[in-house]
Amino acid sequence: MLNSILLLAEAVLYFGVMVTLFRFRSRIGLGVFVCALGVMHFLETYLASVFYVALPFGLVSPGSAVLFSGKLVMLLLLYIKEDAATVRQPIYGLLLGNGLMIGLVLLLRLHAIATLPDGRLPDIGFIDEMGWLMVWGTTLLFIDAILIILLYEKLGKYLRKSPFARILVSVACVLTFDQAGFFAALHIFADAPYAVFFGGWFAKMIAALIFSAMLVAYLRWFEARQIVVPRGLSDIFDTLTYRERYEALVKHVGRDGLTGLLHRGSFETDGEAAVAASLRTTKPLSLLIIDVDHFKSINDRFGHAEGDKVLKSIAAVLTEAIGEGDQAFRIGGEEFAVLCSRPHSVARLFGESIRHAVKASAIASKFNLTVSAGVSTVSDSTRRLADLFALADQRLYKAKLTGRDRVIGEPAGSENHGAAWTTPGNRTGL
Ligand code: GH3
Ligand code: MG
Ligand code: MG
Repeated sequence: MLNSILLLAEAVLYFGVMVTLFRFRSRIGLGVFVCALGVMHFLETYLASVFYVALPFGLVSPGSAVLFSGKLVMLLLLYIKEDAATVRQPIYGLLLGNGLMIGLVLLLRLHAIATLPDGRLPDIGFIDEMGWLMVWGTTLLFIDAILIILLYEKLGKYLRKSPFARILVSVACVLTFDQAGFFAALHIFADAPYAVFFGGWFAKMIAALIFSAMLVAYLRWFEARQIVVPRGLSDIFDTLTYRERYEALVKHVGRDGLTGLLHRGSFETDGEAAVAASLRTTKPLSLLIIDVDHFKSINDRFGHAEGDKVLKSIAAVLTEAIGEGDQAFRIGGEEFAVLCSRPHSVARLFGESIRHAVKASAIASKFNLTVSAGVSTVSDSTRRLADLFALADQRLYKAKLTGRDRVIGEPAGSENHGAAWTTPGNRTGL
């Protein structure tokens, strides 16, 4: 009777402290919970190997039944409130940490040992036994954790409305499996009698019942509510620092490091979205591809660093030139793209103004800097970014062939001066 009460007290103490650490994870970090979980491992193994307690009905159980069952329930809690990737961390940590421990013990035994004043000597044999038991225990725990997640998910189909049954069945099934596996090791390494299998299983089932009830209560009454903690001044600074960092990061994502323009990846995603939006809203969309003329010779004559400065200044010209809603990208070494909501003829003039602006920029004369550009516009024949790009690229190529320092769009006479594409019922035949 006393034993049963003590086991219950252990379960309540263990559960209470662990869920408190878990509950405050957003303030103190999940690491505190995970570390506490890991530390318990030593006691569990020690209890499993030498600490047996008598239960009612003449059963005997390893003293670890409560703590081990609790650990599995904690992993399930971690999965329910966080995710599988988080559960993986303590499990891999335990597995690898145990491996390390075995490795260290192999080295420790090589020491020349000094006897303690009272004549005691270290019990390497005991450490060995514990070590292998720990490795086996964590290997089982690894399988247990996968099983309990799978089972919990599967049961969701039938028991979504009764979380207690869902948790209890998951925990009880996996603990039964675990008991069989762990007992096998206890039997082989510690000569545990068969009665211990039933005693341990019985203790684990009671533990499953108690922990499941406590877990459901915790999830219902504590996890459902947001913790409102008065915030100190330093917390507010913390939040601000993180927000600044976050905003700075968001600003950099999708941007090219040298020029600060949007990069090729952004061009693919934003461009495709812009084309789709243009088709949907019938607002015109044009693409300019701008390539620096004889850039290689700038690099060759003045060096790469000067070449980089040229690229930056061209980016500055583009940023200055584009309007609200337009986007400028660096899509290659010295190739830029501009997406603008203008019809073809206007976009072409826009290209001309960029060409002039580059020529008029501060560093242009030193490098004899010019650019060529190809212009294309969303139309019935260019309904995908790839088509739009291919057409502008083809025109850029033509600009290069015909002497550079120029902007090429549609051949004269075939220009569409209105919205550059037409709705199916209103085709003008480009
Ligand atoms: P074209 O008028 O036919 O475009 O001639 P080009 O020399 O500009 O053409 P090409 O595409 O052959 O040369 C591009 C050069 O750009 C080659 C490469 O060394 C240089 N480049 C690419 N990325 C960078 C960069 O980030 N910085 C610098 N400085 N140069 C770069
Ligand atoms: Mg070039
Ligand atoms: Mg090029």
